[in-house]
Amino acid sequence: MKAQIAVIPGDGIGPEVVEQALLALDKVGERFGHEFTYKTALAGGCAIDAAGTPLPQETLEICKASDAVLLGAIGGWKWDSLPGDQRPERGLLGLRAGLALFANLRPAVLFEELADACPLRPELVAGGLDLVVVRELTGGIYFGERGRKDTPTGRAAFDVELYSEGEVRRIAEVAFSLAMKRRKRLTSVDKANVLESSRLWREVVTDVAKGYPEVALSHLYVDNAAMQLVSSPKQFDVIVTNNMFGDILSDEASIITGSIGMLPSASLAQGNFGLYEPVHGSAPDIAGQDKANPMAAILSIAMMLRYTFGLGSEADAVEAAVQSVLRKGFRTGDIHRGEASLTLVGTREAGQLIAGEI
Ligand code: NAD
Repeated sequence: MKAQIAVIPGDGIGPEVVEQALLALDKVGERFGHEFTYKTALAGGCAIDAAGTPLPQETLEICKASDAVLLGAIGGWKWDSLPGDQRPERGLLGLRAGLALFANLRPAVLFEELADACPLRPELVAGGLDLVVVRELTGGIYFGERGRKDTPTGRAAFDVELYSEGEVRRIAEVAFSLAMKRRKRLTSVDKANVLESSRLWREVVTDVAKGYPEVALSHLYVDNAAMQLVSSPKQFDVIVTNNMFGDILSDEASIITGSIGMLPSASLAQGNFGLYEPVHGSAPDIAGQDKANPMAAILSIAMMLRYTFGLGSEADAVEAAVQSVLRKGFRTGDIHRGEASLTLVGTREAGQLIAGEI
């Protein structure tokens, strides 16, 4: 297979972790006989410095002309005093909107080797954890009508949660197809006991389920889902929910895995196109020191192989390589707690070890 990937290293530790992610992808190409070519593009603080805008038009065009996008991280202290609409993070929002990325996939995987880093009691996560939150990314209350008005009891403000059937249907389709590739269990999270938008959400998800008879669908109210995630997390396989509930639940799910340096993500558009990035930011406190954990970026490559390119065995090989390096006792600083039996490694060494395992 031949594919072109738009690479946006970004700021801070972004370029450091992206370098290791591409090393892993090159290894996959070598071992499985695929040809990946890269087109580097600017976004974030470095784009502000070079081009005066966090998202140059050229970057959007490079992304659109590519099969997938790999992003490191953007932002940093240097640009913190800029007004909101000129900040590096605007580049990220512009990419999501410009590339119509409507489905955000955030896996929360607890590798058995890192069980100590999980804040939950060991018996709750025995044998490891593996779930994915599918969050609707371009609709709902974050994009609905908002405003202020005066009332007899003082100023009032409102934000409207609005979902169309089509928006719910397309995110549900993503979640069901994902469940089909996994353990075939899907939990749809809403607040249908109170919200009309959630009642429509539930009706549409139930309707989409007819096309996926093998997937066991259940519905949970969001308050219950938040409790179940920490009291009984192993019951979950795929969770699908709206923009705001997904924002909150995906962060809750991610802390179970112990370190932000381990968390990949995918944002998908219609078709197979997607933007892949570690969940973490640019970590200016450790940038340029060879201290960043590159595993989140490398695991993002595994997601790209699986979801954009449909290369399941190649994705498995990348994930197995990460796990093997952990099993052999190598740890970057964020997942090393001074244990004498474990070997502390830097970004580059971790990347080379993982590439070696592939
Ligand atoms: P952050 O994720 O950059 O860092 C939080 C903490 O986690 C820091 O102590 C950092 O050292 C540590 N950390 C993060 N990634 C790590 C890794 N791979 N290995 C080891 N340690 C890691 O979040 P922040 O400090 O809130 O934000 C820093 C900058 O990043 C800000 O400008 C913020 O706006 C931006 N940001 C960007 C993205 C993105 O590009 N998607 C996401 C979040 C934050």
